[in-house]
Amino acid sequence: MKKIFIAGKWKLGGGKPSKSYYPADHSENAEISSASLDDVDEAILAADAAWRHSDWRDTLPSEKATILFKVANLLEDKKTFLAKLQTRDNGKPISETMGLVNSAIATTRYIASCLETLDNELTNQRIKSVLTFTTYEPLGVIAAITPWNSPVASEIQKIIPALAGGNAVILKPAEATSLIALELATIFEEAGLPAGLFSVLTGKGSVVGEAIVKHPLVQKISFTGSTSTGRHLAHVAAEKLISTSLELGGKSPTIVFEDANVDIAVNGVIYGIFSSSGQACIAGSRLFIHQSIYDKFLDALIEKTKKIIVGDPEAPNTQMGPLVSEAHLNTVDDYVKMAKEEGGNVVTGGYRLTGENFDKGSYYAPTIITGLTNQAQICQEEIFGPVLVAMPFSDEDALVAEANQSVYGLAAGIWTEDYRKALDMAKRLEAGTIWINTYKKFSIATPFSGHKESGVGKEKGRLGILDYMQTKSIFLNLDETPNPWCEVK
Ligand code: ADP
Repeated sequence: MKKIFIAGKWKLGGGKPSKSYYPADHSENAEISSASLDDVDEAILAADAAWRHSDWRDTLPSEKATILFKVANLLEDKKTFLAKLQTRDNGKPISETMGLVNSAIATTRYIASCLETLDNELTNQRIKSVLTFTTYEPLGVIAAITPWNSPVASEIQKIIPALAGGNAVILKPAEATSLIALELATIFEEAGLPAGLFSVLTGKGSVVGEAIVKHPLVQKISFTGSTSTGRHLAHVAAEKLISTSLELGGKSPTIVFEDANVDIAVNGVIYGIFSSSGQACIAGSRLFIHQSIYDKFLDALIEKTKKIIVGDPEAPNTQMGPLVSEAHLNTVDDYVKMAKEEGGNVVTGGYRLTGENFDKGSYYAPTIITGLTNQAQICQEEIFGPVLVAMPFSDEDALVAEANQSVYGLAAGIWTEDYRKALDMAKRLEAGTIWINTYKKFSIATPFSGHKESGVGKEKGRLGILDYMQTKSIFLNLDETPNPWCEVK
């Protein structure tokens, strides 16, 4: 049974254990102990003491960076191991999980490098005799709550900037994918991070996660996951008057104009929806194709989709692995059934894959549906699976209205050779990230945020560190001018 990591100590958690399974054949990876409510309290009390009383908050930026660089080097040393572990946990193909570990390494190095140049501010001197300046201070104990789809990248993306800001972090990974989080704990321990600044509390969101975020000493909730859980956490934060960063769901539109380079756009569109088997908040799940190229583009898209290599996630050339669980596969399949009931035509896929190796796991065929409008339920709700709905458009204003007709606003893709049109569209689309002639490209230096119900706050970039800090403004009187009431006798 896997132990959990509380304030520098490994122990069996007092909660109900859970199991991690390999989605490709449902074999058991590990049994993991889970935190009890006492464990939650112990970790948070230790975290509070660690950020308040250890030297961490006042440690020189270069010394903090030294530890973070050690973390990056350890991530790099263990790259293949971590990628394989994540593949075992959530079934993502090894080529993708290697990319996610690379992203975690790059994030850590970037934030460590920023540390030396994160300045406090000497503010504009508006009162002649008073010097004003503003310092950035840690918030305190940060709850980092993460989902199962890209744990290594999304966990590092929260832990590293929070630690860089002088805070302590309690990580609550998703129940299905806790193994990476526990491995990260060994890495922070080996890198010499002072005890208490980082703990990993595994267990159910509704029990362990809930107890963490409601704990009075937790000062910020940094969450990635579903919009419904995010909304609930926003209520918890509102009650406590603490800040949040919420990276939530999406239903991102991809738009292909008549002048797009068809070969490149077809590849981009299928990568945008079918990589990670569609289990990505940024998946480009609504496709709008210009009427004049609709048939030609759709034919090319179907042909290419049928060639996607679906199979063993541990094989280097696999492009699409299984879905994370049987329960999730059934949800995806229910959405496809619903689409048919709404009048949709399934032009490829639409079924679970069967046959020797597929029978052991939760594999679903990459699926394209036509014949629906943007109002269909399947176009409005996040499926988190390999299901694309294709729709024709002719009028640009109507297109923009339809693309924006969604409660979500996470990302959008635009395919055209006309850069003026692309930039005009980029301005008009309601989304935090816009990709032009590419999709799912990321940079740690570039802020990531959701508009509308896709999220609150931003991650990444230098400013991402300051999101884990609060300002303190100091007014220093330089002469002996009295305050007005000194005159009163
Ligand atoms: P998903 O559908 O991706 O599992 P969730 O939003 O349910 O999305 O879960 C994302 C993370 O949030 C997981 O780590 C989960 O355990 C956690 N979680 C779920 N419910 C709560 C809650 N009430 N309080 C805190 N964390 C929660």
